[in-house]
Amino acid sequence: MDPLIAKAMLRPYNLAHDEIVSLLALEDTAELFSAAYELKCRQVGKVVALRGLIELGNHCAKNCYYCGIRRGNPNVRRYRLSEDDALRMARWSFEQGYGSVVLQSGEIESDENTEYIGRIVKRIHDFGGDDFGITLCLGEQTEEVYRFWREAGAHRYLLRIESSVPELYAKLHPADHSYARRVECLRALKRLGYQTGSGVMCGLPGQTLDDLANDIEFYHDMDLDMIGMGPYLPHKDTPLGSDIEITPEYAANQLKLGLKMIAVTRLYLHDVNIAATTVLQALDDRGREQGLLAGANVMMPNVTDTEYRENYQLYENKPCLEENSTKCRNCLNWRVLAIGEKINWGQRGDSPHCKTFPDSNKGKKS
Ligand code: SAM
Ligand code: SF4
Repeated sequence: MDPLIAKAMLRPYNLAHDEIVSLLALEDTAELFSAAYELKCRQVGKVVALRGLIELGNHCAKNCYYCGIRRGNPNVRRYRLSEDDALRMARWSFEQGYGSVVLQSGEIESDENTEYIGRIVKRIHDFGGDDFGITLCLGEQTEEVYRFWREAGAHRYLLRIESSVPELYAKLHPADHSYARRVECLRALKRLGYQTGSGVMCGLPGQTLDDLANDIEFYHDMDLDMIGMGPYLPHKDTPLGSDIEITPEYAANQLKLGLKMIAVTRLYLHDVNIAATTVLQALDDRGREQGLLAGANVMMPNVTDTEYRENYQLYENKPCLEENSTKCRNCLNWRVLAIGEKINWGQRGDSPHCKTFPDSNKGKKS
């Protein structure tokens, strides 16, 4: 076995910065992926945890240069789900045995939005109880807002740092988007006892392997529980993506880099939850399965009604635009079984890293 891979498998955080870069630079990835998969199996077994992804709305106050639903894109038809519709999708996920939901939207900071989210979270918690996970992915907010939603029943929060390198972050966002605030938000989430997730996009224009190694070290420095990352995919209506052509070669390179990031993150951190994100499937029909076989253990199938999906396109080629949630569920089940894994139906699937959280195991069924 490659000595660096063997070293990484011995214990977490057992690689120097340059060693992380060397693993990310590997061309032949077979051994890297199988070692990361073995570590994942040691941590959680041959099981995949599901989160039903509800895309609550696409209004956004921000203008990130890479994102298709940025405020400045006039070609998006804006929507927000009614509370009852959001509840119906969450209840469907619960009844289908998805152990948790993720509520995601553009970033809105307003009292009205805070109350709207708070009511939805509370109503989901009322029927799902502590057995049913509620993850939020709603951008930067004040600590008071995060506390309000935590008290309403949310217990996980995803906030990607996008890039842990401040200079690169500054190139991806307008000047009024603050890297420092994003880090401070992650700290606030940890203080409030959320299981906290973050992540980056990889394969961004101008990004180096050194930057990506920095990202993996950032995950450790921030003591994160969950990692949700994926390849960057251009969107034609954005400043960053308008000139990039998605050729088959570009897609293959982005996919390979995304899989390597999953594998090296697993080898470095060992015990976190890592998502095989939908963007992998946008690059290759079997992209998410490849993510699972490279060390990921979570999938986030879209449970939003089909009619809304085309208006929530962060990047080109978003998969499953036409498919309804029932079809997605069946398709996913077969895909997972086909690689020798199984879904842990009905369980929250908490990150092994957060076992020490006071309430993280509350209500867990096994
Ligand atoms: N608005 C919230 C936020 O930014 O944290 C949550 C929703 S946002 C759409 C979720 C994630 O989508 C972002 O963190 C970003 O990494 C990802 N994303 C946006 N545009 C993307 C693109 N072109 N390619 C890949 N991922 C993208
Ligand atoms: Fe808004 Fe999030 Fe997209 Fe940035 S990434 S424009 S905050 S939805």
